[in-house]
Amino acid sequence: MKKGVLISTTEHLLSAFTGMGIDNAIVELDNLELPILDGSAKPFVEMIQKAGIRKQRTARTYLRIVREIELREGDKSIAVYPANTYSVEYSINFPHPLIGKQSFCVQLTNGNYLKEIAAARTFGFLHEADAMRQQGLIRGASTQNAIVLNRDQVLNPPLRFPDEFVRHKVLDLIGDLALIGKQILGSVVADRAGHAMHTALVSRILRDRSYWEETALEVESEMPAMASAAALSL
Ligand SMILES: [Zn+2]
Repeated sequence: MKKGVLISTTEHLLSAFTGMGIDNAIVELDNLELPILDGSAKPFVEMIQKAGIRKQRTARTYLRIVREIELREGDKSIAVYPANTYSVEYSINFPHPLIGKQSFCVQLTNGNYLKEIAAARTFGFLHEADAMRQQGLIRGASTQNAIVLNRDQVLNPPLRFPDEFVRHKVLDLIGDLALIGKQILGSVVADRAGHAMHTALVSRILRDRSYWEETALEVESEMPAMASAAALSL
């Protein structure tokens, strides 16, 4: 089992669950790896919709961030600030003519995840493909399951959004933060972070209870009030 493959493909499913407000589900796998599908969370969203979503009687509990957490590493950073809803803001800066600086901010209410995030695909650079493959990050990557770029163009246009790249980073971050095990009430701001920083943030939060409290309160959130469940087979 390649660890990178497992991690890089699990977060797309976890991201779909969080984005759809699902915190209770049974997922059956016949393999140690999740399928990459089209490189986005959209196929997972469709499977969840097909499996059906059921509201449960138990009130959902949230992990409410009560004081600022910030991790920095050179020019990269990730921070969470107290807020009454869950929002994610991401900035990237890739030295590529089609990417460059992009920022995207989404509030995870009102089905925004489905409209703005779910369909954003992962991306890879042809000139880095060998290195990425060695790390198990895009094993078997192709134009079917990732946006593939060479030095100055997208090899499999069209893009699904002009800023699909940063939207996918938002998708990944939501999936990585799902490892906290509860929906967050907080405003997450990431600048050029990556999986390592996302998971470092998860560890920091779980290690130090002074950053958060558990709450069942629904404050200005339009997420379903009750826990929701779904069952699907992959
Ligand atoms: Zn991803």
